[in-house]
Amino acid sequence: MNFLYVGRNETRTRALRQALARDNIHFERTSTPEHAFFKVLNEDITALFLDLGEQDINGLEILTSLESISKDLEVVLITEPGDIDQYRPELLRSCFGYISPDIEAGRNLMVLTQLTDKITIKARLEKLKNTSIIDGLTQLYNHAYIQQQIDEEIKLLEPTGDPVTLVIFDIDHFKNYNDTNGHPAGDRVLKTVAELMTASVRKFDLTGRYGGEEFVIILPGTKLTTALSVTERFRKKLVSHRFEFGHHQPLGFVSASFGVATMDHKDITDRRTLIHRADQALYKAKNYKRNCIWYYLHGDYNHYQPSLVV
Ligand code: GH3
Ligand code: MG
Ligand code: MG
Repeated sequence: MNFLYVGRNETRTRALRQALARDNIHFERTSTPEHAFFKVLNEDITALFLDLGEQDINGLEILTSLESISKDLEVVLITEPGDIDQYRPELLRSCFGYISPDIEAGRNLMVLTQLTDKITIKARLEKLKNTSIIDGLTQLYNHAYIQQQIDEEIKLLEPTGDPVTLVIFDIDHFKNYNDTNGHPAGDRVLKTVAELMTASVRKFDLTGRYGGEEFVIILPGTKLTTALSVTERFRKKLVSHRFEFGHHQPLGFVSASFGVATMDHKDITDRRTLIHRADQALYKAKNYKRNCIWYYLHGDYNHYQPSLVV
């Protein structure tokens, strides 16, 4: 936790530092609002103490501007209780609370404890939320979350009629890789594949681990032809990456097979069908010769060859 005191008062700085002397709290002071603003923008500041008793610090001005940049920031005002009514209620509502300049007073210490408790709980909840949607090995979204997100994207794009394309791929002969090079080496391949795929797509595309050595990419608003080019670019990146022991693989390198389908709101209209079509296309790719892309279009499964127009 990074706490920042905005003010010039040495005594209060010292008292706050002492009251917040806990293992995980890093406490700093800054005297200018500009510097405080800069720090909140650029650093991971958890809580801000605004000393409103300072003549030359317009604490509320800072607060108003900070409100719009960091929703997670907790703000504590330092003011005489008698002065609190002079501030606009909507500003006060966005603050965690206030303490009086006499930092060691009983009520103040209670407010500080409540503040650190709230931040600790918030951090735990965040972690819990993340572990329930993130796959531990690859740091990609997990199966359950991906399912949910496909539904979400379909719902979002339905009114505009924009497509959602789904790419499912599975590493080729991965059992052979594990058997030949060991499970830990296999884990390293999965991690690298995850990194390569995330680097190959746009920020708002979603990448997930569907299970074992099977992955998915959700491309919202992307039509089939574009998705196929993206997939081909990624497939090439994968086969040209120098994975350790790659040459032990039956093809002489690590590769994957891909299935692609597009939810166009006509032929495919729901998640189950979309996943089924992409999965069937992947099955075709596996049976064909692996290390290739198959796609579904108008009732048929086809082998993607970049030179041919889809
Ligand atoms: P194909 O080309 O048909 O996909 O063959 P394959 O060998 O990749 O497929 P198969 O389903 O026979 O084997 C998948 C292997 O993936 C077996 C399993 O041990 C391995 N695997 C699944 N999850 C993990 C994991 O988390 N780490 C490692 N190292 N291996 C995994
Ligand atoms: Mg496989
Ligand atoms: Mg598999």
